[in-house]
Amino acid sequence: MDMFDDFGPERIVEVYHPKLGMRGVLVIDNTALGPGKGGIRFTPTVDKTEVFRLARTMTWKNAMAGLPFGGAKSGIMGDPKKLTPKQKDEWVAAFSKLLKGVVPKYYVAGPDISMAEHDMAVFAKANGSNQACTGKPKKLGGLPHELGSTGFGVFHSALVALKHMGKDPKKVTFAVEGYGNVGEFVCKFMTDVGAKLVAVSDSKGTCFLQSGIKNDVLYKTKKEKGTVTAYPACKVLPSKELIYQEVDVLFTAAIPDLVKMEDVPKIKAKLIVEGSNIPMKEDVEAELAKKGVLIVPDFVANAGGVISSYVEYIGGNEKTMFEMVEERITKNTEQVLAKAKAENLLPRDAALAIAKERVRNKCKTCR
Ligand code: NAD
Repeated sequence: MDMFDDFGPERIVEVYHPKLGMRGVLVIDNTALGPGKGGIRFTPTVDKTEVFRLARTMTWKNAMAGLPFGGAKSGIMGDPKKLTPKQKDEWVAAFSKLLKGVVPKYYVAGPDISMAEHDMAVFAKANGSNQACTGKPKKLGGLPHELGSTGFGVFHSALVALKHMGKDPKKVTFAVEGYGNVGEFVCKFMTDVGAKLVAVSDSKGTCFLQSGIKNDVLYKTKKEKGTVTAYPACKVLPSKELIYQEVDVLFTAAIPDLVKMEDVPKIKAKLIVEGSNIPMKEDVEAELAKKGVLIVPDFVANAGGVISSYVEYIGGNEKTMFEMVEERITKNTEQVLAKAKAENLLPRDAALAIAKERVRNKCKTCR
């Protein structure tokens, strides 16, 4: 894969710690808007190409969110499950120390797969600066993901899209794929405004209930029984069946490539809001658009998490975070949908054009 174009990557840093056997890679894609921001992924399969692709996505996501951050991502190559907690701390600290030359000036880290708030505390301590990463514990000035910033943003994106379609949120039905950090808050905020939740899934299956799923009962059921399928009186279907249900809005909030080309004829939702990353390929989105389905793309709808990271980075509190997520996600979704309509573009293409222009305006070498 040829990684290089006018936008980047500006730096690829590969590190190795011979004593621990730790290998890692950092790709700083583009810093025209600010230091590169993106999480650290700790998996046995992560490689330079994967990190580059994720870094490029972060360039567009941060630009689209209107943040003074460029795009970057990093990876530690190894299986964290095979390490003791102490060994994992040593690997994360070693990775942080080896990146000292570029962190936090050119790269600000954050959590990604197998990296949580404890790891961020280790990373920041080893670097010697609290600004080395976001997603830190509260006692270090962090704004944990458990506050629900991403789900809150996805909800506001949906409100804009519904308004765009002339629909009243109180009168719509919706389904949520994945009752995790993102999905849980989508269910909460959507039901709070009066929308009717009729289907929700997790890895164990889908809970379908035409008469409506109550959010407080759902939360309690998941907490106590470990799965949404234990919700009283709901019809239990396989996880995948969620996407075929007769609803006005479908929220994706779990796995990549959820919707395949062969699913297109069976999709009945009129609006899909992508809370998860890459829930379908671009050609599938285009096919759904031909059917009249409006899709709010992932890097527009789910930027609440990175907006929260920015608020943490500048030392802001929870209140500022929620205000900024609402304001940015609302404005950006409106802008993307208006451009898509005016220029007859797919929302994803309209969003990409806006993000690219924002980077180009600050980048002398990007054409
Ligand atoms: P999570 O681990 O908290 O929750 C994932 C949920 O999906 C769990 O309930 C799990 O049971 C369920 N699930 C797993 N496989 C499933 C399947 N086949 N069908 C239905 N449900 C299934 O994860 P999360 O943080 O909520 O992230 C969800 C998605 O949103 C991911 O794509 C992630 O990259 C994206 N995202 C998350 C954030 C964030 O701040 N958490 C930000 C941006 C994007």
